[in-house]
Amino acid sequence: MPKAIRVHAYGGPEVLRHEDVEVGKPGPGQVRLRQHALGVNYIDTYFRTGMYPAPSLPFVLGNEGAGEVVELGEGVTHLKVGDRVGYVITLGGYAEERIADAKFLVKLPGGIDYDTAAAMMLKGMTVQYLLRRTFAVKPGDTILFHAAAGGVGLIACQWAKHLGATVIGTAGSKDKAELAKQHGCDHVILYRDEDVAKRVKEITKGAGVPVVYDGVGKSTFMSSLDSLAPFGVLVSFGAASGAIEAFNIGILAPKGSLYVTRPTLNTHISRRETLEEIAKDLFQVVGSGAVKIPIHSRAKLAEAAEVHRALEGRKTTGATILHP
Ligand code: NDP
Repeated sequence: MPKAIRVHAYGGPEVLRHEDVEVGKPGPGQVRLRQHALGVNYIDTYFRTGMYPAPSLPFVLGNEGAGEVVELGEGVTHLKVGDRVGYVITLGGYAEERIADAKFLVKLPGGIDYDTAAAMMLKGMTVQYLLRRTFAVKPGDTILFHAAAGGVGLIACQWAKHLGATVIGTAGSKDKAELAKQHGCDHVILYRDEDVAKRVKEITKGAGVPVVYDGVGKSTFMSSLDSLAPFGVLVSFGAASGAIEAFNIGILAPKGSLYVTRPTLNTHISRRETLEEIAKDLFQVVGSGAVKIPIHSRAKLAEAAEVHRALEGRKTTGATILHP
């Protein structure tokens, strides 16, 4: 029987159980996949702890993966057995084999191998919608991107640079800062030691930035607002340091008529055409070599708990993938 990582009760990394699971046959609109590589994302920790509730318990964790189609359910027309595919945002990723809704699957171009796909489908599509659809970065913009050496961060730095932006990143250590620079950051702020808003104002000669991309959440929220230029946009897309506490919307006025948005990839890919557009754009920048997908850690499916400890312990950089 195929193995998977299941959660029976929410909690720390110790709740991840590597066990046999019944996969079953694909229903209408579904396919069965034999997976070759699986992406690890911070969002997996939110599902593991119950901060994002799963539809039911027990459930198989994971939202990103790549593999081959081994069986088709009724009514699936855009795929055939043997197709190489990748997917995002459909729970059940940490598994050797799985059932997936065909509407979430995208065929992989020849030049994209399974490891690369597993490392970029969720992170890279997120970067696409952040930089191109949420606040459209254009040449000459100076942007602030938090956790620049992370999985999403290293892709974002390269892509923003490719779009002609000046990129200010934040990082938790000097080594991470160096890595972010190698991936396109023009300036890196060590946000555990330095005052972010003050440094941003110095770098931008008092102007502030038009956009801050903040996946860190609780610990960076106020300094993100204080780094913005008038009419600037805070794109709050994650909570690696914890959820942002309730705040008085009135504070946005004296800080310069600011905007705050809390987007998700889910909303952006809810229409199939948009999902395909975002994936196509990602395949294009990766295929052309403008954005390289940094896989810095590979582990076995059975080692998922250790991988979660490293991710939450701020020990990882770039993408981490699991192999079944
Ligand atoms: P990362 O690889 O970026 O890991 C998280 C990083 O956050 C850490 O490496 C660390 O970097 C930083 N961090 C800052 N404070 C803390 C803290 N207290 N505890 C742990 N980490 C902290 O993760 P991902 O690339 O998977 O995801 C990045 C963010 O993007 C997450 O918040 C995730 O939820 C979000 N996301 C949102 C999506 C959306 O559609 N809304 C989709 C995909 C991801 P450092 O040491 O440098 O500070």
